[in-house]
Amino acid sequence: MLKHKIVDAHCDTVGFFQEKSDYDFFARNNKHHIDLPRLKESGIILQVFALYIKEEYKAAGSLAYCLRLLDSYYRTMQRFPGGLRTIYSRTDLINALNSSRTAALLSVEGGEALEGELAVLRMLFRLGIRGLGLTWNHKNQLATGLGEKDPHSGLTPFGRQVIREMNCIGMLVDLAHINRQGFFEALETSSAPVVVSHANAQAFCNHPRNLTDDQLRALSQAGGVIGMSCCPHFVDSKNPTMDKLLDHFVHVAEVAGVDYLGIGADFDGIEQVIEGLEDVTGLPRLIEGLVKRGFSREEIAKITHTNFIRVLEKVLPTT
Ligand SMILES: [Zn+2]
Repeated sequence: MLKHKIVDAHCDTVGFFQEKSDYDFFARNNKHHIDLPRLKESGIILQVFALYIKEEYKAAGSLAYCLRLLDSYYRTMQRFPGGLRTIYSRTDLINALNSSRTAALLSVEGGEALEGELAVLRMLFRLGIRGLGLTWNHKNQLATGLGEKDPHSGLTPFGRQVIREMNCIGMLVDLAHINRQGFFEALETSSAPVVVSHANAQAFCNHPRNLTDDQLRALSQAGGVIGMSCCPHFVDSKNPTMDKLLDHFVHVAEVAGVDYLGIGADFDGIEQVIEGLEDVTGLPRLIEGLVKRGFSREEIAKITHTNFIRVLEKVLPTT
């Protein structure tokens, strides 16, 4: 099998670092979905690591929890300095892509970690965070998640300020989990391209986490990228298969265009998996499936990595 370079826009592995999981991230094992050897084996050149703010910290303690996750990431990486290469700038990105080391980008999933303060956003940036998913499924100080039954509530004034500040300092805006109203308002607000790091197409699977065709078109018009997820619930409600996930890719390529399509598998964030995509080592099989669906070599490169790299090059600070 030809080895493809892959950028994966979303995983929840850091949660396991923090929980002192008994698995070793730097050794190949069969615990969880990701470890360094499996990332390398699968051709992952850049993995976005999300710091997912658990619901239990929503009301209080979200920032401290976020910092605990971040600390656990850095402490884990310290144990194996030649392991992942955490990137903070465009220069880091370019250097990482020219090296054999797998790059990592840190992102927070859940804007409640800011505890309503732009100062916290800026300090998280200084601590290495380069992306922020504005909401998870619920409402927070920034916006409303799609789990709320409040379709007319979108971005808050603070949410708009956060996006503007992120544009200014060089952080990636992630619109996975935000509701429809907030999605369009965020696209309008952001001066830089945004991503939807892990979601699929609603035309093929009517799950609220998936994007409708007009959302897909709006995302592409704004130069953003959607990372297609391997979460079975977003693929098909009855019989999720790799073939059906490939249908989602083909659909998004048709509706949004192949320049706006990527991968955001959501490994270590999903409990159920699709056959053939049991862990990160399934991604090369998925890409072989895309090749069989007729995507050209150039299109495959866009989907697997260059689309996300294009967005990161626009968003990240120079140095
Ligand atoms: Zn998520």
